[in-house]
Amino acid sequence: MITLVRRVTAVCALGAALSALASCAPETTRAPLPAPSATAASSPVAEPPTLAPGPAGLTPVFEHGPRTRDKAVALTFDADMTSDQGPRAASGERFDNPGLIAALRELKVPATVFMTGRWAEEYPVQARAIGRDPLFEVANHSYSHHAFTDDCYGLPTVDEQRMRTDVERAYASFRKVGVRDAMPYFRFPGGCYDRRALKALTPVGVTAVQWDVVSGDAFATDARSVAREVLDGVRAGSVVVLHCTLSAAPTTERVVRSVVPELRGKGFRFVKVSELIGAAGGRR
Ligand SMILES: [Zn+2]
Repeated sequence: MITLVRRVTAVCALGAALSALASCAPETTRAPLPAPSATAASSPVAEPPTLAPGPAGLTPVFEHGPRTRDKAVALTFDADMTSDQGPRAASGERFDNPGLIAALRELKVPATVFMTGRWAEEYPVQARAIGRDPLFEVANHSYSHHAFTDDCYGLPTVDEQRMRTDVERAYASFRKVGVRDAMPYFRFPGGCYDRRALKALTPVGVTAVQWDVVSGDAFATDARSVAREVLDGVRAGSVVVLHCTLSAAPTTERVVRSVVPELRGKGFRFVKVSELIGAAGGRR
């Protein structure tokens, strides 16, 4: 289970630092559910594809696309900022990463940005520009970046009664800054979820999006080792988790500039998460 250990360590590092707490035990509540059944999508209409609800109507969870010969891979970027980091941003800490977004545009790499509502409020011009660029899609990473389980790398916890409103508040932030049509996809902060969290979000109608490749870009200083993690981990249909937060993930732009040509050389093509969900039989 080396992969799992790496995943826990990488996400753990970011979660722990964001919360400024040292406690960083691998969480045990994260239990992927079986893939829910879904109906096939056909035409590229405006409605983004989503997975059908899981057993008992629970929020469905998506981890990767089909392992087909069409080697599609989705790079996803978490734009992390917690609700209490305003003072740090005010004193100059960069939670954005314009160079990364510019690199994705330059390289013409479609990508999905999982944005917190707090990030959109801090960087409204960037949030709007990302949201209106057809190269990208904006998805939801909560408003506060607080955890949806009790034990998630030391992140502060959202009460069960506030889980739904935290996600809805992020969508409200997106609308307020001019992001139209944010996707009905949600990434749990730290990737931590349990049945209770999936149930709490059922009324929101989102598909939870996890990943199968951890880049390890959180707090990495060696871009080459992060790039190696990506190149070693990517398979057809993979969802790769990276970050769009310069202070917490300073190597990500260099990683992207390195792995994109390499993966293209191996026959991979870059897609947004919505395309993978559609290919997995998501319905519109
Ligand atoms: Zn995050």
